[in-house]
Amino acid sequence: MVIETSPLLRINGLAHRFGHQQVLRQVDLQLGAGEMLCLAGPSGCGKSTLLRLIAGLETVQQGSICLGDHTIASAECQVPPEKRGIGMVFQDFALFPHLSLLDNVSFGLSHLPKAERPVRAAQMLERVGLAARARDLPQVLSGGQQQRIALARALAPQPRLLLLDEPFSNLDVRLRHRLRADTLHLLKASGISSIMVTHDPEEAMFMADRIALMNAGDIVQVGTPAEIYQQPITPFAAEFFGDIN
Ligand code: ADP
Ligand code: MG
Repeated sequence: MVIETSPLLRINGLAHRFGHQQVLRQVDLQLGAGEMLCLAGPSGCGKSTLLRLIAGLETVQQGSICLGDHTIASAECQVPPEKRGIGMVFQDFALFPHLSLLDNVSFGLSHLPKAERPVRAAQMLERVGLAARARDLPQVLSGGQQQRIALARALAPQPRLLLLDEPFSNLDVRLRHRLRADTLHLLKASGISSIMVTHDPEEAMFMADRIALMNAGDIVQVGTPAEIYQQPITPFAAEFFGDIN
């Protein structure tokens, strides 16, 4: 017997404009529980805008976004970002410079009793291998360590969905490769569902259960890395993934 579980995230007919520029056209996308989906495509195609709409950092103009059983955003209703149960890791990490690493990670834990917050934060620091640095400020960390703190902070409140926007692009190549593997391991171990934006085809191939390829505001193909690489349905997809070897 096949047990069909409904998707965790459902995006229907999402369209978005900035002024006269149509940045997203008619985006439909679904994400399964525990799945890692990479949103790949060239710079400027609308990846970050789509992620920001899901997170609630942009207001939905047309279409809808449902998480679990709830519509979290449509033209009629917008659940505030902090009530969506969604964590986000930004390209520049966006850590609070004046707060210790422990306080950075505790920041999103106001729903927990006060005494439990540092305990949960310390557990997360442990999981990213930075427990010994709890009292340090972000500025004394390397880029790779800051990225791990940003991930710990996003995961600490135990969100249902994690969004990552080009989380490795500010790191040098060797570090990027190591952090890809470490991050994937952490996400799989926690069982969280995630969407990661990248303009790097190799990164998408390495990280994703499925890839959604975007071009100029449209999702042009969705499939497993093998499907997209072996059966690109447009010349654009063939070219985007063609240079990987
Ligand atoms: P990507 O993340 O794929 O590089 P973005 O979603 O950041 O693309 O941007 C898509 C398009 O929307 C770009 O042309 C960008 O200049 C434009 N854009 C993004 N954010 C804004 C904004 N806040 N105001 C106006 N234009 C924007
Ligand atoms: Mg972007």
